[in-house]
Amino acid sequence: MRNRVRSCGRHLPQDAPAFTPETKRIPEGHGPGVPRPIWSQLCLRVLSVVADRLIGMSRFRLQPTPVQELALLEHCGHARFVWNLAVEQHSHWQPGRTAAPGYTEQCRQLTQARAENPWLAAGSVVVQQQGLKDFAQALANFFGRTHRRPTWRKRGRCEGFRIVAVRPGDVRRVSRKVGEVRVPKVGWVRFRWSRAVADGVKSYRVTRDRAGRWHVAFAVPPEPIAAPGTGAVVGVDRGVVVAAALSTGELLNAPTLRATEKARLQRLQRKLARAQRGSVRRGKVKTAIARLKARETDRRKDWVEKISTRLAGGFDVIGVEDLKIAAMTRSAKGSLDAPGRGVRQKAGLNRGILTNGWGLLVTRLEQKAPGRVVKVDPRFTSQRCSACGVVDREARESQAAFRCRSCGFACNADVNAALNVRFAAGHAVAARGGPPLGGPVNREPQRDLLLVR
Ligand SMILES: [Zn+2]
Repeated sequence: MRNRVRSCGRHLPQDAPAFTPETKRIPEGHGPGVPRPIWSQLCLRVLSVVADRLIGMSRFRLQPTPVQELALLEHCGHARFVWNLAVEQHSHWQPGRTAAPGYTEQCRQLTQARAENPWLAAGSVVVQQQGLKDFAQALANFFGRTHRRPTWRKRGRCEGFRIVAVRPGDVRRVSRKVGEVRVPKVGWVRFRWSRAVADGVKSYRVTRDRAGRWHVAFAVPPEPIAAPGTGAVVGVDRGVVVAAALSTGELLNAPTLRATEKARLQRLQRKLARAQRGSVRRGKVKTAIARLKARETDRRKDWVEKISTRLAGGFDVIGVEDLKIAAMTRSAKGSLDAPGRGVRQKAGLNRGILTNGWGLLVTRLEQKAPGRVVKVDPRFTSQRCSACGVVDREARESQAAFRCRSCGFACNADVNAALNVRFAAGHAVAARGGPPLGGPVNREPQRDLLLVR
C-alpha cells in the first residue's frame, strides 16, 4: 500500500487509491483558502483526468533476454520478408495488367510457401499473416492519399510485427514494476509496467527502433475525452516557426533537442561521414545518432499528447486547418528534365512541418474528441483580418506581425490565423445545425474509413 501511494506522483496505477500523500498532509483549516471538502473533490477530478489519458497510451518498454531477442528478431525478419514479397508483387503491376493479389489471395500463397519452405514454416503464422495485413493497410492508406506508396523494408530500420487474437491471460503483472506478455514461439517476455494496461487487449505490436530499443504497444482504442459542455470553440493554427497558435492568444512550441544535444548530433554526423562503411565504429556512431533522434521524437509525441488532451478536455469544438500534409511535404525536386523550383526553401519547410508533428496532432485530436474536430478551409486564414474580415495581402507585415490596414487591428499573425479558424469552425457547427454534441456528425475521421478489417 505504501509503495503504491508513493508511485502516485508519476505513474498512477488504475487501481490506485484516489488520494495523494499531499492531500493527506494538509491539516484541518490549513488548506489553500478553500474548505477541505471542495479541495479533495478537486483532487479527485484532476486524478480522474490523468487516468483517462493513460488508458489511451499503451506503449511499454520491452525487456527481452538475449535469447528472446534473437527469437524476436526472427519474427521481425519473417514480417519483413512477407512485406517485401508483397511490395515486389505490386511493383510488377502496370496499367492494363490484372490486379496484383489482394490480402486473401496472398494468405493462400503464404500457406503454400510455408509448405515448401521449412524455415518459413518454423516461424509464427500469425506474424506472417499480419505482415501481409499491414501491407494491405499501407496500400489502402496510399490509395486514400494519406500516405505514400509502401516500399521496401530494410533490416535494422523500424522493425516490428503484430500479434492478434490475444487472450486475457496473455498479459500479466509480475511485480509492481514488471509485467509479462506471451509472444508466440518466444514465450513470456518481460516489459516495464510503467502504467496500467487496459483490460480487453485484443492485439499488440512489438517494435524495435533504430536505437535498438524494444517496445510493446497494446492496441486499446483511446477513450474519448468528455467535452466540457460549455460551448467553447478554439481555433488552432499550425505553423512552421511556432508549432501551434491558439485563438486564445497562446503560442505553443514543440520541444526539440537542446543546444548541447544539437551540437552533439552535429559532431556525430561529421564522425559518421568519416567512418568507413561497414565498420564497427560506423555502427556505433549510427546507434548514437539514432538514440538522440529517438529522444527528440519521444519529446514531440509527448507534447502532442499533452496538447491534444488539453484541447479535447477544454473546448467543445476544435477548429483546425484542413491542410493536405501529404501534398505539402511532397518533394520539390522535380525531375532531371524539369527541375523543381525553390528546392532549398521547400526542403526547409518540409523539415519544419515534420518537426512540429502536424499530422499526429490532428489524428490524436480526432481520436480524443471524435466528432468535435472541425476542419476548415485554410485559404486566406493568414491574410484575412479576424476583426473586420478584410482580406489583404499586405497585412502580414512579417512572419510574426499582422496589422490590418482598413481597421487598424494588430495582432500576432499566427493568432490572427487561429482566430479565423475559430470563426470558421463556429460557423460550420452552426451551419450543420445545433450543438456539436449529440448532433449530426458530418465529418468522420478519414482513417477509420480506410481501416482494413
Ligand atoms: Zn481589419
